[in-house]
Amino acid sequence: MNDEKTIFKNAQSPTLGNVDVQVSDGVITSIVPTTPSTSEPSQIDAGGWLLLPPLVEPHAHLDKAFLSERIDNPSGDLMGAIRGIESARASLTRKDTIRRAERAVRQLANNGVHLVRSHADTTTDTELQNVEALLEVKQQCADIVELQVAALVGWPLSGRAGADNRALARAAVAAGADVIGGCPHLDEDPAEALRFLFELANELDVALDLHADENTRATSVDLELCADMVISSGSTVDIAASHCVALGCQPEDVQHRVAEKVAQARVSVIALPLTNLYLQGRDQTHNVPRGLTPVNLLRTHGVNVAAGGDNLQDPFNPLGKGDPLETASFLVLAGHNLIDDAFAAVTYRASTALGVAPVDISVGSSANFLLIKSTSVRDALATQTHQRMVVRHGRVLSARL
Ligand SMILES: [Zn+2]
Repeated sequence: MNDEKTIFKNAQSPTLGNVDVQVSDGVITSIVPTTPSTSEPSQIDAGGWLLLPPLVEPHAHLDKAFLSERIDNPSGDLMGAIRGIESARASLTRKDTIRRAERAVRQLANNGVHLVRSHADTTTDTELQNVEALLEVKQQCADIVELQVAALVGWPLSGRAGADNRALARAAVAAGADVIGGCPHLDEDPAEALRFLFELANELDVALDLHADENTRATSVDLELCADMVISSGSTVDIAASHCVALGCQPEDVQHRVAEKVAQARVSVIALPLTNLYLQGRDQTHNVPRGLTPVNLLRTHGVNVAAGGDNLQDPFNPLGKGDPLETASFLVLAGHNLIDDAFAAVTYRASTALGVAPVDISVGSSANFLLIKSTSVRDALATQTHQRMVVRHGRVLSARL
């Protein structure tokens, strides 16, 4: 909190036209039609820039960010990226991880992101090192973003061979991880792995975020199994299923059946278009799948659909800007989303998927917003201009003019 009063003059609200937004003690105290500027020092000229809610990154891997120059992925697919990370584990120290993760957080924050969920590799090689590193980043960067840390527990989780990983999952939550995660589709017994993660999340009452069906096999059914478990148990923990690529490869009647269950179970789906377009379908030479979950179909059934950037310049995706507007643009181009649906997927839909109340730009709300030099949301997705002013708790966090 601060006791400063600031007026952001001449911001373009998509619904109210050009307005002045007055902020006091970190809260919006008035939004009125704009009037000519005066010389008051408490005024900040918004220059007619578009006034938008802050952006959300619901699925990141901050512990892997900016490793492209250090780790190769010659095959370009998911297992190639995983093997690359495994071969380099020894060089990925806690200090190095914190440094790269902080750089990524600052890049996200400067782009207008105020809420991030990042997965942290939790494997028998490095145990809790990455979870602890990201928890430190969470603390250090608390002024600029709200960060949720999900323990991405290694596999196997099933059978006797999975005992160490199962113990690690518990230890990660005890160490402070906000969310439990894992990759059932990589396990020898996906159903058993999923059941363990689901039951642990319910036992410990923490959110669950699955790397679900990250493949193009129509036989991969993590998402449907998860929805079945919620419906039959009446579970109320927050659950998100990330990727869900296989659903895009399944017959239409199956897609509708699964989407219906996912909506009923209130499981959010987080699409990750950049990384999945890069990693998936490399084993096929014709009719190559896009590797995207069917977002429009899921929405028609009432599923909460969000979208994230996933990997940032690492072996899983050598590109990416850490900008949810870039993610939304891929939803439009590759996922055939309407502009407003794509933007919702990186703002209020993403907040909802993370169990956080969406930001409302109205009187009485916390003064968190983004001003961007654009004429419309479509224009913002098209240009992804760097000319942005990020306001958090009433203060200008960054301004690139
Ligand atoms: Zn991921």
